[in-house]
Amino acid sequence: MSTDDTVATLLLNPTLCDGRGMCHDAAPDLIELDEWGYPLLPGHTLRADLTKGQLKAAEDATHACPVLALHIERRR
Ligand code: SF4
Repeated sequence: MSTDDTVATLLLNPTLCDGRGMCHDAAPDLIELDEWGYPLLPGHTLRADLTKGQLKAAEDATHACPVLALHIERRR
């Protein structure tokens, strides 16, 4: 669920993700890994609303992903 302080949404495409875990290495406070090495976004769903304070970590994670499985959708 989005809140007033949401500035963007982080989206994970599980079809593209191959579990290399580089997103977690780039943003360990934002993205956990499950027991098989696949990412868990905040809330453990495929999309996570981001506050301004989480945006830099989300950008770092997105840039670290070699298969473009992460995407940031910004609010207007
Ligand atoms: S870096 Fe990309 S491919 Fe690797 S676990 Fe994260 S989202 Fe999946």
